[in-house]
Amino acid sequence: MLEVVEVSPRDGLQNHPRTVPTQLKIELVERLVDAGACRIEATSFVSPKAVPQMADAEAVMDGVPRQRGVRYAALVANARGAERAVAAGADELNVVVLATDGFGQANQGADRPRMIATYHEAASIARAAGVGVTLTVGASFGCPFDGEVPPEQVAELVAAAVDIAPDEICVADTIGVGVPAQVRALADAVRAVAPEPRLRFHFHNTRNTGYANALTAVEVGAAALDASAGGIGGCPFAPNATGNIATDDLVYLLDRSGVKTGIDRARMAETSRWMRERLGVDPSGMLHVAGDFPPTPARG
Ligand code: ZN
Repeated sequence: MLEVVEVSPRDGLQNHPRTVPTQLKIELVERLVDAGACRIEATSFVSPKAVPQMADAEAVMDGVPRQRGVRYAALVANARGAERAVAAGADELNVVVLATDGFGQANQGADRPRMIATYHEAASIARAAGVGVTLTVGASFGCPFDGEVPPEQVAELVAAAVDIAPDEICVADTIGVGVPAQVRALADAVRAVAPEPRLRFHFHNTRNTGYANALTAVEVGAAALDASAGGIGGCPFAPNATGNIATDDLVYLLDRSGVKTGIDRARMAETSRWMRERLGVDPSGMLHVAGDFPPTPARG
């Protein structure tokens, strides 16, 4: 069993040029739940000036279906965001730090020591509230400002952060430059300094390596993968970046490789088509266009 963390409501929509109404975001989440997603990054609690699309974070959290077994994560980048997310009822906080000073300064106005301190503040707030904590290390596979990122640099940052241990460490290819050899090297490097937390990866398919990376992550024993329905989204720091790996395509790949996720890929593909019509996004995934195989999959 591999856990898929559905990130389309956050990573998929955060850079969408038009404001997506809160009710449509909630409808998207409902569709994801209907398709079997049981862990969803619903929104981010960040500055509405920096990310206007996520200004309705509280309203989204208030409206998501609280079905049994579905856990809602919220992305945060500082203590203020952590306080807001906890108050809004997030089940877990995804605290993001960047692997490089260059990206950290551009994205959060902070170098690595400052970001580690900020992680500690946010993780403490989560722990005090009894909610889960993921430490996400963005730009672990490469940085638009500083270039190559050695796995040792990621491991160093993780080692400094895990004084307050997260439940999970998410190694993120924020700009979509990674290749499978890096997945193996990063898994080894991170586990060497933090063997306890579950390992999770976050891939974008910007250079068509996202699915090869995902399968490699499964092979090295990752517990979870991030993906977004339809593969929507992008990154403001990576020109022409495509979205996350598409949940529908990923589940097709995993289903037919004998790796269970609990997600109904046909319903996820339907959601891709729905997103094209209702949200005006252009899904990068292919399953919803190509059709499934065999042609009539069993529906749950
Ligand atoms: Zn991302």
